[in-house]
Amino acid sequence: MTSMPPRHEPGSPHGTVVVVEDDRNIAELVDLYLRKAGFRVLQAGDAARGLELVAQERPSLVLLDIGLPGPMDGLEACRELRKSSDVPVVMITARGDEVDRILGLELGADDYVTKPFSPRELVARVRAVLRRSGSPRRSADTQSVVGDVTVDTLRREVTIPSGNIALTAREFDLLAHFAENPGIVFTRQQLLDAVWGTGWYGDERTVDVHVRQLRRKLGDALPLATVWGVGYRCD
Ligand code: CA
Repeated sequence: MTSMPPRHEPGSPHGTVVVVEDDRNIAELVDLYLRKAGFRVLQAGDAARGLELVAQERPSLVLLDIGLPGPMDGLEACRELRKSSDVPVVMITARGDEVDRILGLELGADDYVTKPFSPRELVARVRAVLRRSGSPRRSADTQSVVGDVTVDTLRREVTIPSGNIALTAREFDLLAHFAENPGIVFTRQQLLDAVWGTGWYGDERTVDVHVRQLRRKLGDALPLATVWGVGYRCD
């Protein structure tokens, strides 16, 4: 997986967001609010154009609607995107479509917003994802080791004996939280509060989805145990 640095254009202090959304009204509203918040915005009406824009423009973030016209929907676009890019992705999902949300996270999306959302909520989500994916949390003592996994929170790099492993922003934050607190049993709610933030309204299965991804990507190198009836522990 490549991690080309996002391109920063003059006049867009927060970088570029590619918005892949076929509903013109929603796209225009999102465009307006993101611009007001200091982002450069590029719109795509279908997945193919969206992927093209991501490849050309190397945005800081992609907003991806799930229901898109044409042969590729947003979930497939996310899967496709993850083959070549670790750009943060926020999915736009329809209310009540929990399967889509969980699938989106499994395919490597970092977060989601549910229609109808307020533009303010959307901007807050975008900022939170960028904050997590971009800025190191501290400068000293940036490496922790759990099992055979080395977590570098400054470089946001994860290494196992076979090499570097690419994680989404949220997967990384969850892993870093375990690595910084070895041996402690966390409930799913505690993990949501610590990693997703107390303003997060998602449900606890989100944690399970991310744990499953960490186990899949890190395999036996990660000593992450399920504590039945309680939650998870890493040591
Ligand atoms: Ca749509």
